[in-house]
Amino acid sequence: MLRRTKIVATLGPASDDLETLRKMIEAGLDVARLNFSHGDADDHRRRAEVLRQAAKECGREVGIMGDLQGPKIRIRRFANHSVALACGDKFFLDSALGLMDGNQDGVGVALDTLHEDVKVGDVLLLNDGLITLQVASVDGTRIHTTVMNDGILSDHKGINLKGGGLSAAALTDIDKSNIKLAAEMDLDFLAVSFVRNGEDVEEARRLLTEAGSDALIVAKVERAEAVVDIDSIIEASDVIMVARGDLGVEMGYAELTGIQKKLIRKTRKAHKIVITATQMMESMIQNPIPTRAEVSDVSNAVMDGTDAVMLSGETAVGQYPVNAIEAMAEVALGAEKFPLPMGMTSHRINDSFELVDEAIAMAAMYTANHMGAKAIIALTESGSTTRWMSRIRSDMPIYAFTPHVRTSRRVCMYRGVHPVSFEIDPSNPRRLYQDIFDKLLENELVEVNDLAILTKGDLDGVSGSTNAMKIIKIKSSS
Ligand code: PGA
Ligand code: MN
Repeated sequence: MLRRTKIVATLGPASDDLETLRKMIEAGLDVARLNFSHGDADDHRRRAEVLRQAAKECGREVGIMGDLQGPKIRIRRFANHSVALACGDKFFLDSALGLMDGNQDGVGVALDTLHEDVKVGDVLLLNDGLITLQVASVDGTRIHTTVMNDGILSDHKGINLKGGGLSAAALTDIDKSNIKLAAEMDLDFLAVSFVRNGEDVEEARRLLTEAGSDALIVAKVERAEAVVDIDSIIEASDVIMVARGDLGVEMGYAELTGIQKKLIRKTRKAHKIVITATQMMESMIQNPIPTRAEVSDVSNAVMDGTDAVMLSGETAVGQYPVNAIEAMAEVALGAEKFPLPMGMTSHRINDSFELVDEAIAMAAMYTANHMGAKAIIALTESGSTTRWMSRIRSDMPIYAFTPHVRTSRRVCMYRGVHPVSFEIDPSNPRRLYQDIFDKLLENELVEVNDLAILTKGDLDGVSGSTNAMKIIKIKSSS
């Protein structure tokens, strides 16, 4: 059985040598994430190069996603690098304080307008919520707070406002230069951090297009504002990431699961792709096997229909990067054995279709599900037909037959879609079907006499031209 759910893993010092990457790909890595919050351009270039080499040696296509750091608001530094805070202490944040002048009384903050964005009673969460500060008063640029719990606060830790509302723009100057880097590296996906609304996503796409890239845009939903404006964000993006790390801090973790389910449902309904991210196998940073709670978390995301599950620290800095991917793959397969009601899906049964390829894709899925076909074969230029198809729940594998490496790497993120590199021989159109059968048989993906559904266009190599569906029986060439 082929795994349908895709695996995204973050590369880092624990996983950037050829041998480890080869093992990760063999274990099931589908898309590698380069985290632009850590490392410089040369690190990213080198990692991408080694990854491409490893994928080539494994004979597989692997997508690459660059992840912009975004306007994560951080405190500045302490003269002694850290302070111990106790519940009830007074502590201030002040954007006018010197870069290294933090001490027991307060610390600098790298957002000039922070004092305008907070009011008395607001709760600021530092270091992913490990330290809580409540705003007592605001005096010029200085925000006076009361410490709500004991803990150590060290240099450069991140700040979130509970409930959201910090006004920093989504794209910083560093992000803008990393967009150029992503284009230059020909990355397949670009993730945009801390988007507030659809316009932030559009702005990123404009800059990316200007830089000459058509990478798919991943909007990271990790701010309270983004949850409110989710419809415009989904509309403007290609992929949505449920970025549970920051989102859990801003929204409070108790509602996170409900929000995750809603985001998966909404994104799929809008025919877009969704990634579930952060702390999925967190304990595997230190341990070779996941906890039962982690197994359950991954399984639930899979059962809810996420396209991909993501690993962060587990593969970037953890001790068991390969085991983490193996565990993800195994758990995803296990969860996929218990599909929610499908086969007779009523997804979009009352919708009217606007596009020809969309209509064909829907017809193909209904037919396949209702006829018990073994495979769906889509001859596709851009992969868009397979994206429509993969929004319908099914246990049928969808093979994206495409001559384009770009498309192969894109569909690495689409649930249930598997890329097959395939060149149509225009001089011999009558051999087309046999060439397809041979390719599938050669890779043991089907058996002779299996029923398959095939979609195609007029073979003119024009994107979006799928206009036909055929029901075919697999034959051997001999
Ligand atoms: P990050 O984003 O890992 O870049 O912070 C993901 C998240 O916040 O969950
Ligand atoms: Mn984040």
